[in-house]
Amino acid sequence: MKKKTVNDVTQLNQIDVREIVKPASVAELQQLIKSHDGPVSFGGGRYSMGGQIGTDNTLFIDMTGLNAVTGYDPAKKEITVQTGARWQDVIARIDPDDLSVSIMQSYSNFTVGGALSVNAHGRYIGQGPVIKSVKEIKIVTADGDLKTASPTQNSELFYGAIGGYGGLGAIVEAKLDLADNVNVERSIAKMLRADYAEFFDRNIRGNADVVFHNGDFYPPDYDTITSVTYTKTDKPATVPDRLRPKKEVYLAEYLSIFAMTQVPGVNKLRPMVDEKIRFKTDEVVPRNYEASRYVEELEPSTRAMTTFVLQEYFVPADKLDEFAPKMAAILQKHDVNALNVSIRHAEQDPGSVMAWAQQGDVFAFVLYYKQWNNEEARQKVGTWTRELVDAAIESGGTYYLPYQMHATDAQFKQAYPRSDEFFALKKKYDPDNKFRNRLWDKYDPNGPQVDPETPQFRREHTKLGQMKKKFADAVTPKKRGGSKPPSIGAIT
Ligand SMILES: Cc1cc2nc3c(=O)[nH]c(=O)nc-3n(C[C@H](O)[C@H](O)[C@H](O)COP(=O)(O)OP(=O)(O)OC[C@H]3O[C@@H](n4cnc5c(N)ncnc54)[C@H](O)[C@@H]3O)c2cc1C
Repeated sequence: MKKKTVNDVTQLNQIDVREIVKPASVAELQQLIKSHDGPVSFGGGRYSMGGQIGTDNTLFIDMTGLNAVTGYDPAKKEITVQTGARWQDVIARIDPDDLSVSIMQSYSNFTVGGALSVNAHGRYIGQGPVIKSVKEIKIVTADGDLKTASPTQNSELFYGAIGGYGGLGAIVEAKLDLADNVNVERSIAKMLRADYAEFFDRNIRGNADVVFHNGDFYPPDYDTITSVTYTKTDKPATVPDRLRPKKEVYLAEYLSIFAMTQVPGVNKLRPMVDEKIRFKTDEVVPRNYEASRYVEELEPSTRAMTTFVLQEYFVPADKLDEFAPKMAAILQKHDVNALNVSIRHAEQDPGSVMAWAQQGDVFAFVLYYKQWNNEEARQKVGTWTRELVDAAIESGGTYYLPYQMHATDAQFKQAYPRSDEFFALKKKYDPDNKFRNRLWDKYDPNGPQVDPETPQFRREHTKLGQMKKKFADAVTPKKRGGSKPPSIGAIT
């Protein structure tokens, strides 16, 4: 029988699953969860990057079939959607009423359920984790029950499931706040890294006219930052479209990513290229135009030999100047092939158990880098990732969980000090540990505590590793007394 596998966008995390199902109604989903005995996992857009979407032999529930708008009140600026919907579908629905999503990621391909389950954020100023825009969710728990949760009803489920990576159940519906689809004008400012915090305090923090803002922190020197700010304006848009059109091919983007990560010295030219080409013209766009970006802009033409991966670290806002040079030093020491570090700001989380903005406002450092697909590269990435996690923790911060799971158990515990509370909730709502994926399999003390980043796990769970095992098995003499088979190590 052909094996069924799922993978994420990096193609680094093959998961052999028992069955893939795509329910078309909440009732069907409830039935599937209730009647299935083994592990159950959920996938939305599958853009998480470390195996958060499943575990071995699981019933993999593809949530994207549940994508209807179930309630919409433009006057109240409120929409209720099934969570398999992608942001781009939500935006298309509300754009005719000149409304916009309040908080979402920088790209529109992600599902609402995936965004809520990681408690995502974007480049919005005065906002923060997506939970701040969620009024209510509906969630199917392990017994198949459909429960409503909000800050006032079943609040422990609300604050646990948002940011809970599918551990407490399937979030099937969400009622979300909306914002106005204003026109925004882009402005660019280039500065030394050491001047950014003051620039932010003076121009961005608390400025109700700023909608999007981020700082591009450039490799390989990491000594300058280009601030990119979109401010509300009455000026007419300078682009013809209300939403960003999806291109057939992202050739220019692909070629520039290739040059920056493959051709020596090109990355050094990035600040100059941004200044002279990328941000050359003034731009006025509708908020929805900027929100409807496609991740294909970042997608390489192939991920066969190398792949592009994200990481993210959060530090208290007053620790920006402490963390930024430490991060730069670690990336330089390990010669990390970084394409970009984008700095964003987020307000404090209102109470989610697995919050990443735990005790006040934070700066987020989003790292996009290239890595080879082989095991040696993966282990090297593990080494510098753990150094970055330590640096974030030392600065009173944390790291983001949708990416590769290189952090140790001890680092995870320090970075998520309320994780014990989360695992207690998981035990309460999912006593048989039905809802599983590699994230919770690794860190939940009540789970199997299997680490997907060990070389042994990789040998057993990747196509190459499985091929090598097949070969080793095939050459193993069946009769007693035969010659010894080559060890796996010998043929790696
Ligand atoms: C190019 C790129 C850019 C990114 N930019 C940002 C950014 O700007 N800000 C940011 O915060 N993050 C960003 N991310 C990370 C992204 O937000 C997460 O990976 C997010 O989970 C993607 O949504 P998804 O639909 O692909 O979720 P998936 O990867 O499919 O799922 C993520 C997790 O949620 C669970 N899950 C999914 N749907 C449900 C559901 N309905 N009920 C219960 N559990 C569910 C899954 O089991 C899994 O544990 C980016 C990722 C990429 C690849």
